Amino acid sequence: MSESALNLLQTVFGYDAFRPPQQEVINHLVDGGDAVVLMPTGGGKSLCYQIPAMLRDGVGIIVSPLIALMHDQVSALQQNGVRAAFLNSSLALDEARQVESQLRRGELDLLYVAPERLVTAGFLQLLEQIEIALFAIDEAHCVSQWGHDFRPEYIQLSILHERFPQVPRIALTATADETTRQDIIARLNLHQAEKYISGFDRPNIRYRISQVQNNAREALLRFIRNEHEGECGIVYCLSRKRVEQIADWLTSKGLTALPYHAGLPGEMRQKHQMRFLQEDGVIIVATIAFGMGIDKPDVRFVAHLNLPKSLEAYYQETGRAGRDGLPADAWMSYGLQDVIITLRQMLESSEADETHKRIERFKLESILGFAELTGCRRQALLAYFGDHLDEPCGNCDTCLSPVETWDATEVAQKALSCVHRTGQRFGVNYLIDVLLGKDMARIRQFGHDRLSVYGIGKELDNSQWRSVFRQLIARNLLTVDIQGHGGLHLSESCREVLRGETRLMLRKERKPEKATRRGRRDHNIAATDSSLWEALRECRSTLARELDVPPYVIFHDATLMEMLERQPTTAEQLLRISGVGERKRDNYGEAFLEVIRRHIEQTETGVTDTTEESLQLFRLGMDVESIARQRDLKPTTVYGHLAQAIEAGKIPLREVVAIDEKELTLIENLLLVLGDNGRRLKPIYEALDGQYDYGVLRCIKAALPQ
Ligand code: ADP
Ligand code: ZN
Repeated sequence: MSESALNLLQTVFGYDAFRPPQQEVINHLVDGGDAVVLMPTGGGKSLCYQIPAMLRDGVGIIVSPLIALMHDQVSALQQNGVRAAFLNSSLALDEARQVESQLRRGELDLLYVAPERLVTAGFLQLLEQIEIALFAIDEAHCVSQWGHDFRPEYIQLSILHERFPQVPRIALTATADETTRQDIIARLNLHQAEKYISGFDRPNIRYRISQVQNNAREALLRFIRNEHEGECGIVYCLSRKRVEQIADWLTSKGLTALPYHAGLPGEMRQKHQMRFLQEDGVIIVATIAFGMGIDKPDVRFVAHLNLPKSLEAYYQETGRAGRDGLPADAWMSYGLQDVIITLRQMLESSEADETHKRIERFKLESILGFAELTGCRRQALLAYFGDHLDEPCGNCDTCLSPVETWDATEVAQKALSCVHRTGQRFGVNYLIDVLLGKDMARIRQFGHDRLSVYGIGKELDNSQWRSVFRQLIARNLLTVDIQGHGGLHLSESCREVLRGETRLMLRKERKPEKATRRGRRDHNIAATDSSLWEALRECRSTLARELDVPPYVIFHDATLMEMLERQPTTAEQLLRISGVGERKRDNYGEAFLEVIRRHIEQTETGVTDTTEESLQLFRLGMDVESIARQRDLKPTTVYGHLAQAIEAGKIPLREVVAIDEKELTLIENLLLVLGDNGRRLKPIYEALDGQYDYGVLRCIKAALPQ
């Protein structure tokens, strides 16, 4: 073996050190052993097979169920100079032939294959003619019927061991539970394999759950604007209709929000998914149909506008945030309505057999309990998966601002009596009206204005009462008659409270969250640096568009962030940044270094040389197009220079942009209103149907008073 694993990690992938247990897994495979690897999402599973495949003779065959993913992974490897390819149904016949002949000629280190192709007689024959470094079975939980993504083709993968007993195999998954794990081992015949099981904690995800009475979408908007402006995220809603409403509404607020659910035409779903993967700052609003196979590393938040159906689902859906290890938010808002819907699901599953029903009920109660929790959420979540965390995490809402509780015994007694006195027939809204002593015909008609409970609850307002009822239901002191009309019933367990035998402590609702201003950018990037951050992202987007790959395939956010912090100016310094390998240094290094150098110059002199040069040519009477041609730049870049000059007061807007007064006023207004005081140009660009180039918009923005 001429190269060591560490050497490859550093020169090819640009990382300093292995994460546990990468090194052990790699050594074990290189020595010819089998492995089962369970690591949380974002833990770094891919390197566990990529590096051994490169170190061993022959090609590593990677089985992956997700066609969309293969493409990105292979692009990412190619960007690092690794000889990788994929074979699946998205390739044309001649493309597939070409890959097969590369395979025969031994020109590949890694080949990604869809499982259904792998097990065909023809492909297995081909494999017998070549040297194979290893088999990696990614998303190995697909072999299990217990899991959520069962794939029948996966069962047939046991054939690999039978046909190629000497080739090491590695099965990888992020799915937590024990049954699935046992299934993987049994079905793939991996009893002899070494097991590498990491914990499930995702420390960079901040868990936050808030109770919202009626305006969840406002809370969502505040959350996105305050903490994730311009960043990617997923918003989960329960129904298709709600998905569309929320997407429309966020769009009307100037965000880029796209709907995704099973009822939309396939083409549109595809398009929205592509935009989410390829563009910066896209928010997907989706039902749970969205997510499987989304391997995007820089999803900065996952928001739930309803309770997920189980803690497993919650863990999985929130797990799509922050795969790159940078801070990310799992944000959820729910209210009384959700609790009732959750209970309804419980009822719907009552067709099933008893055992099944018990499991379902347990799962629903677990998520309800989790949402109403007053202790550390991460401790509870991990405990649910049999994992243990000694100390409260310090990175969840209950840790960050401990929940206050209050003695609600008397108040609860009033609520329970009101249910009792009105005959256990009415829903929450009516009961609250009675408690508040509302003057309403309906109440008089039932004679409830003459009850002792009428008007005895004026110490709380409507929303406080809703919170009380929600908690009484969640604690099973009241049950909801779902088959009837949603009337509330007293449950057995409420007696003690009614008699005053136990004190009932309920959680105080928080006031709507204040902006914590912890968005990654707000957190880490000083105002002066944000222009460099934008420039680095711009450079990345430009390259990504040219190469037709998602931006993160060029560099991850974490890598750009480090560039921002260390501001390297030489190729050598750049190579020391995590995520920059030799190949990427060679291919993109100069572009990013140029951005950084320009930024440094600019902060020193106010205007850069390159800006100065464009400006001089412009003053000589050349237009933007000709300057671009002469300097071998893009017109947008030249506009960028002129915008800088405008902002520095070196040239009036009028000289650069010929536009009539009315249009100009329109655009200026759009910038202020739609573009959030000119911080974002895209909404304006789109509102004007692309009539004005981004460069022109940038110049107009530069002329706005700061
Ligand atoms: P998983 O498949 O387990 O979800 P990935 O293999 O996609 O995770 O890795 C997650 C992220 O961590 C990727 O951006 C990857 O490049 C990065 N990564 C993996 N191993 C290391 C390491 N040793 N040092 C730094 N970054 C790493
Ligand atoms: Zn915590």
